[in-house]
Amino acid sequence: KDKDKYSGVVEDCCCDYETVNHLNEQVLHPSLQELVKTSFFRYFKVKLWCDCPFWPEDGMCRLRDCSVCECPESEFPESFKNPLRRGLSSDDLVCQEGKPQAAVDRTVDSKAFRGWTVTDNPWTSDDETDNADMTYVNLQLNPERYTGYIGPSARRIWDAVYSENCPKYPSEELCQEEKILYKLISGLHSSISVHIAADYLLDEATNTWGENLKLLYDRVLRYPDRVRNLYFTFLFVLRAVTKAADYLEQADYETGNPTEDLKTQSIMKQLLYNPKLQAACPLPFDEAKLWKGQSGPELKQRIQGQFRNISALMDCVGCEKCRLWGKLQVLGLGTALNILFAVNGEEHLGQTLQLQRNEVIALTNLLNRLSESVTFVHEKGPSVETIMEGH
Ligand code: FAD
Repeated sequence: KDKDKYSGVVEDCCCDYETVNHLNEQVLHPSLQELVKTSFFRYFKVKLWCDCPFWPEDGMCRLRDCSVCECPESEFPESFKNPLRRGLSSDDLVCQEGKPQAAVDRTVDSKAFRGWTVTDNPWTSDDETDNADMTYVNLQLNPERYTGYIGPSARRIWDAVYSENCPKYPSEELCQEEKILYKLISGLHSSISVHIAADYLLDEATNTWGENLKLLYDRVLRYPDRVRNLYFTFLFVLRAVTKAADYLEQADYETGNPTEDLKTQSIMKQLLYNPKLQAACPLPFDEAKLWKGQSGPELKQRIQGQFRNISALMDCVGCEKCRLWGKLQVLGLGTALNILFAVNGEEHLGQTLQLQRNEVIALTNLLNRLSESVTFVHEKGPSVETIMEGH
């Protein structure tokens, strides 16, 4: 019975569940895990201040596990640094999560992302050119996991994301493009829930962390659609990454450490041009069939506006660490949408595609998060369902 639930081709995609699991295990997961640890991919530039345009009264979350450990400038790669602000002591290298010392200078060097564009992405609301309030965060030190962010504030964000911006499905007839927006958000929501379940605070008194498989079942596995949407989102983002392969292969991964930078480039290449991937799932998602009708351009503008609203909502997430991962992953999705639905189509992608450094970091880390979620659901799903459903 369980096998039937997730067999055949992932809805609206071009590969089946079994192939996705196999490729993820053999190719994608191992490469992505290595890639996100490299200097280039582990530092994300972000404005963490709560800058919510919708509910200005919503305060910042005060939970310890909610706060983000920012990077002292001495920690991020040489080429990212502002030349005027070198020479911090080695104490600054220690992550001081939750302590006042963690408050570092939030300003960053405006030249840090030199060589990369600052072109506008029509799918996102972020103004990444404004550096004054931005900081670098070491993603490896701030894992996406349980933070204790629950209740009306969290609920309000998800409600707004679903009801205001992507109409309920399948309660009314939606066109294919709107369904896709819904599925992307639902898939991302599943992935966030999976990460909460995979790394949960089991005992506050002893600060014991571990898996919460009941939560995995209650929030994700119980609803096969949520699992399907997770696989869909994974394939959608994978397609964006492989479509932009030529661009991503040639991108500048310089961080000032030539050995590591070469390694980054080589793992990226392995991921992008893996023969197993190309043989088993050459086209994870076929974007060419969208926006076809007469109203295509108008529909695209509307959905772009809806996605921009979702992106703006991430500034309202009342927990710093959740906001970090929310912003990163929505930027990653916005980047995938931009790659797949670039104005000039695939033929010209090589010449016209312009991505910001932060977008490449977000896209890759998002793919890794989705890959981790697929791994966890695939590994734990069958036994958890057997226990919970008593069969
Ligand atoms: P929620 O997950 O809040 O879901 C609300 C409602 O949405 C559900 O009742 C259901 O009707 C619907 N729903 C749930 N899942 C799906 C799905 N996959 N597809 C479609 N509909 C669905 N908490 C953390 O501990 N760590 C984090 O890193 C974290 N990051 C977050 C990032 C964002 C952007 C947001 C908005 C919240 C984040 N949270 C995080 C909070 C977390 O997502 C939950 O909101 C919280 O744990 C409360 O969960 P809940 O059981 O009330 O259901």
